Amino acid sequence: MSRISVDKLMKHALENKYAVGYFESWNLESTLAVVRAAENMKSPVMIGVCGTYIGEPERKYKESLSVYQAMLAQIAEEASVPVALLLNESDDEAMVLKAAESGFDMVMFAPVFASDAIPLQELTAIQKRIAEAAHKNGVAVEGEVGELPLFNSATGEMHEGEDTDPEVCYNFVKETGIDTVAVAVGNCHLKEDGMVKINYDALKILSEKIDIPLVLHGGTSIAREDLTKAASMGVAKVNFGTGMKRAVLNVMKQYLAENDVDKMDPNDVLGRGAQKDIMVKEQEAVIQYVEETIKAMNGENKAF
Ligand SMILES: [Zn+2]
Repeated sequence: MSRISVDKLMKHALENKYAVGYFESWNLESTLAVVRAAENMKSPVMIGVCGTYIGEPERKYKESLSVYQAMLAQIAEEASVPVALLLNESDDEAMVLKAAESGFDMVMFAPVFASDAIPLQELTAIQKRIAEAAHKNGVAVEGEVGELPLFNSATGEMHEGEDTDPEVCYNFVKETGIDTVAVAVGNCHLKEDGMVKINYDALKILSEKIDIPLVLHGGTSIAREDLTKAASMGVAKVNFGTGMKRAVLNVMKQYLAENDVDKMDPNDVLGRGAQKDIMVKEQEAVIQYVEETIKAMNGENKAF
């Protein structure tokens, strides 16, 4: 039994000056790899899926949230380190409420392009509703104040964000009753170069003013040394996704360049799980990425 409540996990992280990684997976192999890496590092970890992707209207084959929840829960159950389950960033209130009833440990409602999408007053009301419902089931809620810029790596375009205003954040937390809050202090969604400039003055002001754990999204955009520093300044969780996927794409590209799959037994390429299996390569890429990231966030040997 390795499930842990978000409350306990965040407290432990703040007390021990590390940040817990939320590593967003997309299938069985990537989820297993995240937990394997956390076990190797003896670190607590948060696993989960992206609600906006699961609910994507253009998703070709509809998938049920319950299937993902069952998979995540069983993997957490069998882990040797503390694991919590997050439904990350769903823009669908009904899905978030369902996740809060069906066994996630934390849920997050987040409209895409938040600051254009929903006025603050309305967002406050939605988050308050979600927090009330989730708390009845002992489920934590993550909210977001401000908005991360969003980089489109396919087109190179940048959607401007909005830095978190400490006063607005303080009031939002108080009015909604959320348990953790994602802040925008220079971090950027979907940007892969690890080169954003974190505004530490802004982060310091927020960590002093806000008395719930702070979260940084867009972990891929943040340099390793900045992750270390942020973890020592009241950031209790950092979210990663894009960087893991890039690492997997790179090994797959390399695999197909180095191996003539036409001359291979398809069972060796897919399903046997031995060294030549392309899904093993996928897992190894994720494991390496997650291990390095956990180290950067000072999470090594923090399992409890
Ligand atoms: Zn995010």
